[in-house]
Amino acid sequence: MMQSLVLATGNAGKVKELVPLLQPLGWQVRPQTDFFSDEADETGLTFIENAILKARFASEKTGLPAIADDSGLEVAALRGAPGIYSSRYAGENATDEANVQKLLRALEGVPEDERQANFYCAMVFVRFTDDPTPVIGLGRWSGRIATEIRGEGGFGYDPVFELPSLGLTTAQLSPEKKQQLSHRGRAVKQLVAQLQQLSDSC
Ligand code: IMP
Repeated sequence: MMQSLVLATGNAGKVKELVPLLQPLGWQVRPQTDFFSDEADETGLTFIENAILKARFASEKTGLPAIADDSGLEVAALRGAPGIYSSRYAGENATDEANVQKLLRALEGVPEDERQANFYCAMVFVRFTDDPTPVIGLGRWSGRIATEIRGEGGFGYDPVFELPSLGLTTAQLSPEKKQQLSHRGRAVKQLVAQLQQLSDSC
């Protein structure tokens, strides 16, 4: 029988995006919403720590191996903010719009060549709750923060995350193009490659 794996996210969009990318592993990937609805406490100070906490939590809840991700935006001129607090930059349960407006205000008057930013994603696999050797894939996507919002696609900070090489914000990319280039796409590909390498060497 095919071995199951739990994907530790309650976000249906992410599940849809990640399941096909995890297919090469040959596991039956099941979203955490099939099992439980509470959330891990994200008490870490880095994307990697928080992704590990989420993966351990999902594995503890289900008794299955788990994959979790944690991602966000870091802006050099803001000493890395909003960072791991990206989803709640403008406050607990803040909307994407409120977070984006806070970011634009924080960068008011900052010239174009000092508006560099990166999306980061850590994607973690644990075999069981207290796995001492989590496998970690990392992805970074470099760009800069625009001075106004542009584009209808994506979510979060996409309308202000500009790719200078394309002259577009990530909210102006098709979902396929974004998946191909994004921090999350890169992290999951790196994770899958490492897991395949590990299974080949067994
Ligand atoms: P999560 O941990 O992946 O759910 O993401 C945390 C927060 O980072 C999101 O709520 C967004 O504010 C931001 N973020 C992460 N990935 C993206 C992206 O691809 N586009 C825009 N914002 C993102």
